Amino acid sequence: METVGAGMLESDMQRVLLLGGTTEASALARALAVRGVDAVFSYAGRTDAPRPQHLPTRVGGFGGIEGLHAWLIAECITHVVDATHPFAAQMSRNAIAACAAANVALLGFERPAWGGFAGCHLVADIAAAVAALPEAPARVFLAIGKQNLAAFAAKPRHHYLLRLVDAPGVLPLPDATAVIARGPFTLQGDLDLLRAHHITHIVAKNAGDSGARAKIDAAEALGLPVILIARPDLCAQPDQPARQVAGSVSEVLGWLGHGTDLGV
Ligand code: NAP
Repeated sequence: METVGAGMLESDMQRVLLLGGTTEASALARALAVRGVDAVFSYAGRTDAPRPQHLPTRVGGFGGIEGLHAWLIAECITHVVDATHPFAAQMSRNAIAACAAANVALLGFERPAWGGFAGCHLVADIAAAVAALPEAPARVFLAIGKQNLAAFAAKPRHHYLLRLVDAPGVLPLPDATAVIARGPFTLQGDLDLLRAHHITHIVAKNAGDSGARAKIDAAEALGLPVILIARPDLCAQPDQPARQVAGSVSEVLGWLGHGTDLGV
């Protein structure tokens, strides 16, 4: 991956697509709106009541690489900022391919991944996380959102605590409790949650960022093991060029040529 410097691109005749669904994307949308940048915010449409944004907003998939390519051309998009979640790999791969085909500039807005910590057991993917759980009954905080829950039915003896944005329908796990809440979360709140549910193990994605970090800090404080799932690789092809990345709103603004002063 390449990192970006400030002021790399001109802001004339600019129209931005911001791929969202994260706290960082919402912060960037605010900053773009304040500066009067011509931009469209895009949600996948996974949650019942997505946060309202300060930018014109569209909801739903584009229809794969081809659909996104056509949409970029039709909407005269000059710049795409991919501020999706680090585990939204399909969208990010599609953006890399569609932007290359449409000759549109692309920047990934990436949160730094978490490093190792006490009790951390790093695994490659969901299947490895399932395998890493014990065979004996345990009480597991399955902090991975609503996707991929079914994989954990392979370990049906555990009680699973889920934290979801929307109330779930039928859960694919025989013994599960769902707490409905939207982050960011606090250390004290997550300490209380883990204690109240007598949690013995945590499964989490290596999401990075401070709002999602509370559960990790709480687990560390309580001496609980954390099975941490590594981020997916975005490179669909070995010879694919790495996308440029920024780690903060101000870096993204610099890349777009709107200055890095966040005091505006
Ligand atoms: P994904 O597997 O990478 O994407 C699946 C498909 O959903 C994409 O191919 C695309 O459909 C559509 N899509 C995803 N993000 C979109 C966006 N921002 N705007 C328009 N379409 C989008 O994504 P995911 O893991 O399901 O995540 C969906 C959304 O939830 C993302 O926006 C992400 O930021 C957010 N989110 C994900 C996680 C997570 O753990 N995965 C956690 C928190 C938030 P088409 O191919 O039809 O264009």
